[in-house]
Amino acid sequence: MFLVTGAAGYIGSNLALKLLESGEDIVIFDNLSTGHQKIVDKLKTLNLKGKVVDFIKGDLRNLNDIEAVFSKYKIEAVFHFAAFSIVSESAKNPHKYWENNFTGTKNLLDAMKKFGTDKIIFSSTAATYGEPLYTPIDEQHPQKPINSYGNTKLALEFLMDDYSKAYNIKSVRLRYFNVIGADKFQRTGEWHDIETHLVPNILKSINDKNKVFEIYGNTYNTKDGTCVRDYIVIDDLINAHIKALKYLQNGGKTDYFNLGTKEGNTVLEILKTAENITGQKINYTIKEKREGDPAILIADNKKAKEILNWQPEKTLEEGILTAYKWEIANFKKGL
Ligand code: UDP
Repeated sequence: MFLVTGAAGYIGSNLALKLLESGEDIVIFDNLSTGHQKIVDKLKTLNLKGKVVDFIKGDLRNLNDIEAVFSKYKIEAVFHFAAFSIVSESAKNPHKYWENNFTGTKNLLDAMKKFGTDKIIFSSTAATYGEPLYTPIDEQHPQKPINSYGNTKLALEFLMDDYSKAYNIKSVRLRYFNVIGADKFQRTGEWHDIETHLVPNILKSINDKNKVFEIYGNTYNTKDGTCVRDYIVIDDLINAHIKALKYLQNGGKTDYFNLGTKEGNTVLEILKTAENITGQKINYTIKEKREGDPAILIADNKKAKEILNWQPEKTLEEGILTAYKWEIANFKKGL
């Protein structure tokens, strides 16, 4: 039995789907602060090989909530996605991020320690590197976050190292670059009430003709002046989590890996690709640069390839197409 925290959200629900499809039973823990009951309901009603044994609406900030899960179920490993992740919000309200992301995760680790669960796969982030000193960014690149979101995630990486050494709780920390795409059958996808991400914002401006897509700056030192990011498709990202689990099950040591494609695309290139895939013209306007956006972020993914035996297989086009289908399905239902 696996515990998936944050399975009512974008990445957690895609991972939950994958586990259910491969016949694993899961327990979901989520406080629904940014995730959605409808996604949990969907996961519960799908007729897949594995089952959602329980959905616990709980909060990691309450140690009792999470201890109750471990006292009720024997959990082999935890996939931990529950976190706040809006960079700009973290700069304005660090308390919220330290309390939820840091204290919440510390409670989770303490509950694991108390009840003898010794494996965790954790969503870390490229934001732990801060302003890149070189590109592509490998795992040895200095970690100097430039916002509270990155700070909380980096602090958790340290915490996990300490808990690994002292209490033998093994962790794999996956440092995500830019995740795009949705489930190919539109069972789940990216759904944030406040949407800050590039691909959903582009697609929303197609579906809603009153929305004009805003590009944050076109004077960066890149080929067309807009920011370059490494866009990894959700299926590939999820596969890396499954490989990380296998790695720990086979006795792998605590470690951390970049998850990206080693390819970079500018905002304008993503926009053009979305136009080609959807056959729609996208209205856009150039706005001010967004604070804290580095010009270029590209992952060196050699370590994950070598140690996890993983590699990205999906194309950018596949990612944008599934995101588009999900956006249409959701938009029509008025979700
Ligand atoms: N971006 C943009 N308009 C938007 C959202 C994002 O121009 O509405 C740009 C943003 O400045 C960055 C890239 O798209 O260069 C990816 O941003 P996103 O928020 O998706 O991910 P991040 O890189 O911040 O994790």
